[in-house]
Amino acid sequence: METKTFAELGLSQKVQDAIAAAGYTDPTPIQAAAIPVAVTGRDVLGIAQTGTGKTASFTLPMITRLETGRARARMPRSLILAPTRELAAQVAQSFEKYGVNHKLNVALLIGGVSMDDQVRKLDRGVDVLIATPGRLLDHFQRGRLMLMGVEILVIDEADRMLDMGFIPDIEKICSLLPPRRQTLFFSATMPPEITRLVDKFLRDPERVEVARPATTAKTITQSFRFVPDGEDWVKREVLREMIREKNVKNAIIFCNRKRDVAILLKSLQKHGFNAGALHGDMDQKSRMETLDRFRNGEVTLLAASDVAARGLDIPDVSHVFNFDLPWQSDDYVHRIGRTGRAGREGAAQSIVTPEELKSFKEIEKLLGEKPLWIGEPPTEQDFAEAGKRRRGRGGRSGRGAEAKGKGPREAGRDREPRRPEPRRDGAKPQPQAKTPKPAAAPSKPLDPRREERRPAAAAQQAPRARPRPVESEPKPAAVSAFAGNIPAFLRRPARPVKAAGE
Ligand code: AMP
Repeated sequence: METKTFAELGLSQKVQDAIAAAGYTDPTPIQAAAIPVAVTGRDVLGIAQTGTGKTASFTLPMITRLETGRARARMPRSLILAPTRELAAQVAQSFEKYGVNHKLNVALLIGGVSMDDQVRKLDRGVDVLIATPGRLLDHFQRGRLMLMGVEILVIDEADRMLDMGFIPDIEKICSLLPPRRQTLFFSATMPPEITRLVDKFLRDPERVEVARPATTAKTITQSFRFVPDGEDWVKREVLREMIREKNVKNAIIFCNRKRDVAILLKSLQKHGFNAGALHGDMDQKSRMETLDRFRNGEVTLLAASDVAARGLDIPDVSHVFNFDLPWQSDDYVHRIGRTGRAGREGAAQSIVTPEELKSFKEIEKLLGEKPLWIGEPPTEQDFAEAGKRRRGRGGRSGRGAEAKGKGPREAGRDREPRRPEPRRDGAKPQPQAKTPKPAAAPSKPLDPRREERRPAAAAQQAPRARPRPVESEPKPAAVSAFAGNIPAFLRRPARPVKAAGE
């Protein structure tokens, strides 16, 4: 991609002044490619993920284009759809930052915050409406806004919307918008379901693609630590070691389940670390408070789940730790993209247990180079045995429950305390007494039935009608919607797992 300056992108002078005030000297590749097209009113398909500067690549041309014209009551001039409240809130912050020289009216329709102010703003007329899809439709159905005045539509993190089951809502919303509009569409990946949406709702878009950080961000040092005894307490010990060893300024530590986020938080705090947590059961206020404390350095470690952390704009994270390897390799890309942003140095370290070696193999494909193992790497035999294991932690601990005739879901719920099982080297299992008692759940009890992102279970079960879940939580996606997006090993059918020794 050719190098351009901000002055060459066709942005208005007022917008360029705001960029200079923000301290940016050069556009990022996605900005250099998308902005000149977007300012002309053409549709853009941007394949880029968080950390590439994609937010500015649509907010800057939007502000330029919205300089002419006026908002009318209840008829937003532009609409930005984001998958989570946090991402929506951050997009709103971008408008504050890049719109300092403008008098744009911006409204935010997201769950968890009082809507009175936002509704009043809508009544007066807004230039930019930023919303999560469910919340937008609620307001539309209550007659609080009309969508036929929308000149520009932005869909941000479309693949995330797919994961969260928002595609039907997106289609509905698109059908309510005027056909003559500009659409700016962003997604980190292009599974078939997303391509279908693009074909249906974009008109002759300019496709702009920037390389994915996992394959190209040389600023991120990625390493892995194999933990042959994958018990949680051992993993927590290893994690503490990793944190102490490194020059950790601040870090996000990812877990696959929100319950584990809570346990890890308590454990870190007990060991004297300055930690906070973000998980899907926290209300909007406490999420925002935790985030603010993390941003201003009051809290240096943040335990988080994928859904809760999606789209966070935390510019300066020195480290990302994967306490659990993500189930989907795309999530690995998203997670490590929290560090090494905008050219800064960053480090991502992942704990890998024998049960996670299959997931690791998928991730390895994205690395494009030999993985860097800290300590003893897994052996050929470890990998060979991994093929015989059930993936995910539900594998080992779920056995007892499944052997008692429970389904995989129930088996997952019975996950703790785990039963010791014979070690692969034939040594005796670690005595259970060594395991420190899991810390108490956080003030708000976590509901294990709402564990985050269990694609394997979702793929095994027919979708059931459910009331609309709380926003920011994944909805059960239809199997067909998932199918193109899940690695093959997640799609294999459920089969009973024999108890050890059977
Ligand atoms: P995003 O990909 O939109 O989440 O942006 C990632 C981070 O890069 C944010 O903290 C932005 O403030 C920052 N950023 C965006 N554009 C630029 C730029 N041209 N130069 C430096 N930093 C930027």
